[in-house]
Amino acid sequence: MTLAPTSTFPLQFELTPSQDARAEAEREVILADPGFGKHFTDHMVQIDWTVTEGWHNASVIPYGPLLLDPSAAVLHYAQEIFEGLKAYRHADGSIWTFRPEKNAERLQRSARRLALPELAVEDFVESLKQLIAVDGSWVPSAPETSLYIRPFMIANESFLGVRPSQKVGYYVIASPAGAYFSGGVAPVSIWLSTEYSRAGRGGTGAAKCGGNYAASLLPQQEAYEHGCAQVLFLDGETGEHVDELGGMNVFFVHQGGKIVTPRLSGTILEGITRDSIIQLARDRGLTVEERDVTIDEWRDGVASGDITEVFACGTAAVITPISALKSPDFTIGDENAPAGELTMSLRQELTDIQYGRLPDRHGWLTRLDA
Ligand SMILES: *Cc1c(COP(=O)(O)O)cnc(C)c1O
Repeated sequence: MTLAPTSTFPLQFELTPSQDARAEAEREVILADPGFGKHFTDHMVQIDWTVTEGWHNASVIPYGPLLLDPSAAVLHYAQEIFEGLKAYRHADGSIWTFRPEKNAERLQRSARRLALPELAVEDFVESLKQLIAVDGSWVPSAPETSLYIRPFMIANESFLGVRPSQKVGYYVIASPAGAYFSGGVAPVSIWLSTEYSRAGRGGTGAAKCGGNYAASLLPQQEAYEHGCAQVLFLDGETGEHVDELGGMNVFFVHQGGKIVTPRLSGTILEGITRDSIIQLARDRGLTVEERDVTIDEWRDGVASGDITEVFACGTAAVITPISALKSPDFTIGDENAPAGELTMSLRQELTDIQYGRLPDRHGWLTRLDA
């Protein structure tokens, strides 16, 4: 089967304004304390796809429930993918996002793996601009706040057979997000999942799909029960190498500033934050190695003092320092250890670029409101 990319390119969007958009005063109350993923803007993007028409009906419509037939493929076989990125308000009021073409390309790779149709990079970026054109006032301006943007694609053909859906919907919703660490960046302990893995060889580990997250919820619960914020998964094949957390990539800082992160083995999600940190570290003249990292290397490295800092990264939290790894049999590191110096300085540099406080020397920013 050939999955037609776009029938008409670029797509033209039609706006149906919301009749019950929140008043400014109500919006300001929400933006003063948005939390994460709790409140949504007044509109959303919808683009339809069918096997015969390709992408069509590009529209910005009032935010609201979807009408899905109970037999819709996504509800049964989880043919779904998503993305996550942020809109940042700069000091002059303008609204920017970070490397959106990377998210667009990753959505295309996820689409291929999940047998969903690919959306053109330009249409993806335009869908973000279209939403911001009506809901730009939802981008908060307090320090380290943002508008979290969630594009996703679902199989919505009403049909209980097991084959790729011939009808698909692409949507973009957005949710104002407060500063991830409201009380300052605090290191977290993470839990080593020895019983479960998140991805196997040839599976969907490199695709950003809901199914991977469904499989991570039980081990994530186990992490909470042990007082940990996140769960660390090992590779499913040997159970020896560090893969990643449920939704974040992992980095190790060695004595002298060398940085090591697990290589993209096919079971790891290729984080855009990960890629950006590698670039920023290399810009500083630091050595970055992408290779397998075993739990033994982690334990021995921390014990000998060769590994000085560990951190996780992803769009939502940017960079989270990891103080300790816990498992039923051992703890590596010290739960009460402070955040590492290089960890915090890379975090600062990355957020300074995103918020326009440092020059965008790699051309990573795209303006959304112009
Ligand atoms: C989204 C995601 C990440 C982080 O990717 P970013 O592009 O940096 O936000 C890491 N791991 C998983 C499993 C993810 O879904």
